Amino acid sequence: MKPFRIRLTIIIMLLLAVLGLAAAFTMAHIYRNSHEQTLEDNMLREIRLLETTFAFQPVGNENGAPSNDVFSYYSREALQIGKLTDSRVTFIEKDGTVIGDSESDPRTMNNHASREEIVAAARDGVGSAVRYSNTLKENMLYVAAPVQKPGEFDGYIRLSMSLVAVEDGVRSTWTIMGISLLVLFVIAALVSYSVAASLTRPLEHITRVANRISRLDYGARVRLERKDEIGDLGKAIDNMADSLEMQLKVIRDNEDLLQSVLANMTGGMVMVDDSGKIALINRFAEEMLSINSKRMIGKSYQELKQHYELSKLLGDGLRRKERIHDEQTLYNPEPRLIEIDGVPMFEDDDTYRGMLFLIQDVSNIRRLERMRSEFVANVSHELKTPIAAVKGFAETLLSGGVNDEQTARSFLQIIYDESERLNRLIGDILELSKIESKRSPLNFSPIHLQPFFETIREMLNASAAQKNITLDMQVPEELFMEADEDRLRQIFVNLISNAINYTQDGGQVRLNVHEIVSEQGEERIIFDVTDTGMGIPRKDLPRIFERFYRVDKARSRSSGGTGLGLSIVKHLVELHHGAVTVESEVNIGSTFTVNLPLLQADEAE
Ligand code: ADP
Repeated sequence: MKPFRIRLTIIIMLLLAVLGLAAAFTMAHIYRNSHEQTLEDNMLREIRLLETTFAFQPVGNENGAPSNDVFSYYSREALQIGKLTDSRVTFIEKDGTVIGDSESDPRTMNNHASREEIVAAARDGVGSAVRYSNTLKENMLYVAAPVQKPGEFDGYIRLSMSLVAVEDGVRSTWTIMGISLLVLFVIAALVSYSVAASLTRPLEHITRVANRISRLDYGARVRLERKDEIGDLGKAIDNMADSLEMQLKVIRDNEDLLQSVLANMTGGMVMVDDSGKIALINRFAEEMLSINSKRMIGKSYQELKQHYELSKLLGDGLRRKERIHDEQTLYNPEPRLIEIDGVPMFEDDDTYRGMLFLIQDVSNIRRLERMRSEFVANVSHELKTPIAAVKGFAETLLSGGVNDEQTARSFLQIIYDESERLNRLIGDILELSKIESKRSPLNFSPIHLQPFFETIREMLNASAAQKNITLDMQVPEELFMEADEDRLRQIFVNLISNAINYTQDGGQVRLNVHEIVSEQGEERIIFDVTDTGMGIPRKDLPRIFERFYRVDKARSRSSGGTGLGLSIVKHLVELHHGAVTVESEVNIGSTFTVNLPLLQADEAE
């Protein structure tokens, strides 16, 4: 339904109807008047003609009634003239007595002195009237004029004619006008409906566009090329849509930014509104709590049933509406230590909106803290032993308890050895902490492996020779690799000197170097350090790369070990993007295998 369009059409139609009817009435009126006037003029002319041409007979004495002859003469003449002029002719005496009539017997007729046309004729010289004739049962036009023929006739000649022809004319005029009005009406209805439609169509278009905009279709535009008020309205709506679209883009950009911040945060975030419903969960929290945010949003925080302690804490925070802080273990299913911070959220007008909970996985932090304090305890313990020895032997010497020079010398030797060990221990600790904190970056350069291992052999030859151990190195002639030379030397000095240390006299230590191509198509170098020594029990194998871990403390100490060598090796190998593994059999020997890339990737630190 288009009410405005229809209303406009109805108004135009009504106006047309009023105008049409008025025109029709006016026309009918004019038609009738002009025809009546013409008729009247003709009749008057005929009266004037009669006045001069008619052979008037003397009507008779002044006082007495007219004689029968008079009646019949005038009646006969009236009939004659009436036939000729196709009208009713009446001769009326001045006093109103009818003396002749073409239609009826004058003696039966009433006095006509008071008839409208006679009164007017007496007064104005001509009189006319329209009247319904009871005799003829139709509307008649009467025209009368006074006629004076001294001594013969003094009265009025009246002519009257039927108005049926005029009325028929008027009626057919009405019929024609009615039909043309109807046709006009139909055409006007169509025209005015389409005019109204052309007026309302742009408005409807604007309405449709505005509706699309309100249904969030911000790309919709009116785009009316008009210079009038409707064009202005269209332009105003387009401008509004432009600014809405722009504002929405700003809002969307902000939202995207916020979403990507939330999604990429390395902390969990859960927002619970004041009614206890979950309003937001970011990706990290989803993973940490192993829940689906799409399923949980809009639900009560109590739905987090699998994390009973957590949901209790959230409920507590929501009730208290103040900051909370706690640490809990989540089983997911592996245990994770999480730190929860709850912050109440208030709007500008201080209305409470709910709580924001930040969830951090602190398992690693706590594990590192524990490792650090264990390390400190281990270091202290390791330091105490040589210090106690140094202190004890020094005290004995100071107290003069040793007279024998030989014994005193051996005591001093012990003090020297222990302080030497202490020195090594501190050196290794410093080295390890330097590697772990990555304070000294690696300095990669190409290394020709054969001469490189030759220098290592020179360094270790003496200690091998001391134990009568053969040192066999199989290094391909032209093999180069990229590495930090000092660190690489540290790795192999540690591994080879361990092999010498933990191998009985007369044993064998072998180094084998060869190149392989990994499954990923990467060139790598494999170093195997094999000895024929005492081996490592299976149960100790997983732990020997830990700091201070030793299979046999006494033996390690007697060989001058600190328990840090392999852990330094592991760190350095990993810094070179490699791996170190061990295979060993007690009393048969061990093989330490180092697997390193031939070239270091660019991002190597
Ligand atoms: P240490 O200073 O005691 O040698 P490491 O970290 O180098 O410390 O080695 C840790 C432990 O691993 C040693 O104490 C030793 O028990 C064992 N180990 C290392 N290398 C060998 C080897 N080649 N043969 C047998 N045991 C070894």
